[in-house]
Amino acid sequence: MSGDLRIGIGYDIHAVVSDRPLVLGGVSIPGDLGLGGHTDGDVVLHALIDALFGAAGLPDIGEHFPDGDEALRGVSSTVLLEQALEEIFGLKWIVNNVDLTIFAERPKLSEYKGAIRDSLSRLIRIDANSISVKAKTNEGFDAVGRGEAIACDVGLILKRGAE
Ligand code: MG
Repeated sequence: MSGDLRIGIGYDIHAVVSDRPLVLGGVSIPGDLGLGGHTDGDVVLHALIDALFGAAGLPDIGEHFPDGDEALRGVSSTVLLEQALEEIFGLKWIVNNVDLTIFAERPKLSEYKGAIRDSLSRLIRIDANSISVKAKTNEGFDAVGRGEAIACDVGLILKRGAE
């Protein structure tokens, strides 16, 4: 067995807006709040993508997918994740596990954690048991605590795939 492992960490934060749907980890969350941003604002997938790139020693999400790229305006972040995974898999890495935390004052995400986990399992093509989705508030502190933004922290491990 190869001992070749890489740890990746990723973080992202997006402003809460009222005129867009909320998408987290590729899952549409019902309600009247969404996230701003050049793409669909999926803060979970953006943090995940940066963790993947970081673990593989590749340029960050902003270099891969520049904000000014008109082709990416409003696009589903699942498209970005697919491209990132293609690059990662091409380098013979596979995802061992993902551990993430979503910080949101509202909506209450506890009932969506399972759906987000299943969505990530499908997208990354690993077992749901290898994915942890945690959600918490920011206890009223800072922009997240005031409900003005949603943030996400991701940690993951890449390992060498079959040659
Ligand atoms: Mg982002």
